[in-house]
Amino acid sequence: MMPDINLITAILESEMGSDIVVDPVNKNGELSPMSLILREAISQSGKDIPVYWIDGGFPEIFCLQGHSNATIFSTRYLSFTALLRQLFVNNYYSDDIRIEMAEKISFHIVAELALRKGNADFAAFSMVKNLVGKGLFFPWTQDEKADLITLERENINEAYMGTWFYGLLHELGHFPDETVDEDLKRAFSNEYLFSWLERLLPHFPYSQELKEKVFSDFKAQGNKGLLDPDEIREEIAADIFAISVLLKSTVQIMDIVKQSSFSILKFFQEILVSISIVFIFNSCKRMALHGSKIADLTYEEAFSNVVQPVLFSLRSNLIIQYLKHAVITYLGGQISGEVDSAISELIREMTKFNNLLEKGWNKAMRFSVFPEERGDRFVLLKELKKELSGPNGAMLRIELAHFCKKAQTLNRKGNYLDELIKLNDQL
Ligand SMILES: [Zn+2]
Repeated sequence: MMPDINLITAILESEMGSDIVVDPVNKNGELSPMSLILREAISQSGKDIPVYWIDGGFPEIFCLQGHSNATIFSTRYLSFTALLRQLFVNNYYSDDIRIEMAEKISFHIVAELALRKGNADFAAFSMVKNLVGKGLFFPWTQDEKADLITLERENINEAYMGTWFYGLLHELGHFPDETVDEDLKRAFSNEYLFSWLERLLPHFPYSQELKEKVFSDFKAQGNKGLLDPDEIREEIAADIFAISVLLKSTVQIMDIVKQSSFSILKFFQEILVSISIVFIFNSCKRMALHGSKIADLTYEEAFSNVVQPVLFSLRSNLIIQYLKHAVITYLGGQISGEVDSAISELIREMTKFNNLLEKGWNKAMRFSVFPEERGDRFVLLKELKKELSGPNGAMLRIELAHFCKKAQTLNRKGNYLDELIKLNDQL
């Protein structure tokens, strides 16, 4: 049963401020990429989960448990997805630019998520970290309405479908009221996951002590430690569901609109990009949560952030196995040497990008998890004040004003946040 729209709107307004517009997505309306995707999702999962669209909002997709698992999708999430996608597909960026972008975008997402759910001063501090020293400004996230228009005008192809729907489908693939099915448990058994972990972990620059803890936690039965096999399987199940629905729908819609013909290699690339993006959003959510409650962050919580790249590497390697299988099935059971080497090249390139981005992402992670490394927030605020009247001032002011408006709509309070808002008001 569809939950009451007034109730859903009231819940979301209480959490996100009253300036949002909430609309239920109509799955049965005229044919569109969205209606096609959602109908395919229902057909593959057997579940009709209501989806709501928010104009504005925050960079996250989430589900309201207890309200038919209503899933919330927003313009803000899409804007950041489009921006993050540039890190992987834009050939003009140097390695240094990619690292810097990854760092700044992570701080920006953490700031907005902490503002909504966490500590207001930590949110403001993260925002100042995003702004100070920022020399790069991107064509996305400054104005959500403009972003949406741009995205809607794009050709409907593998990139369009991945950008718009991968995150949403991954979320719908979580089926919060169910455990992972038995087939998947067999295919991705603890032993199998462990064998991959043994291959991957030695390549990470962690202390021997931490590596041993990861291994022993993983092996402990019923653990909820640094890497939990059940959690890994649940994420893999959500990715497999997303890939399966997206593959069928993308082939179908591209055949209908006939703007270009479907390429399984382009699809493969978009999936690799999308799983990285979902990972970045999830990590930022964790950073926002943990950075906000620093006073009593446990060892487990701190290091669950540090080992996220291992979790990602494990997941993406397993998903790639599944993806290759899907490609072979799509191509009728055979794969040419040419396609095979093109796939290997895509994987090599993505691994290179992910390793670069991790350097930027790591700075935001350490800032969230290790407060002793944060530095003096008021010194940084003075720095920002100076930069606001410098050559990049106009661009910085747009981002600052956007953040302060959100804080005021949510009625968030904090000494540091108040100082930041005061600075914005003086401009
Ligand atoms: Zn997930």
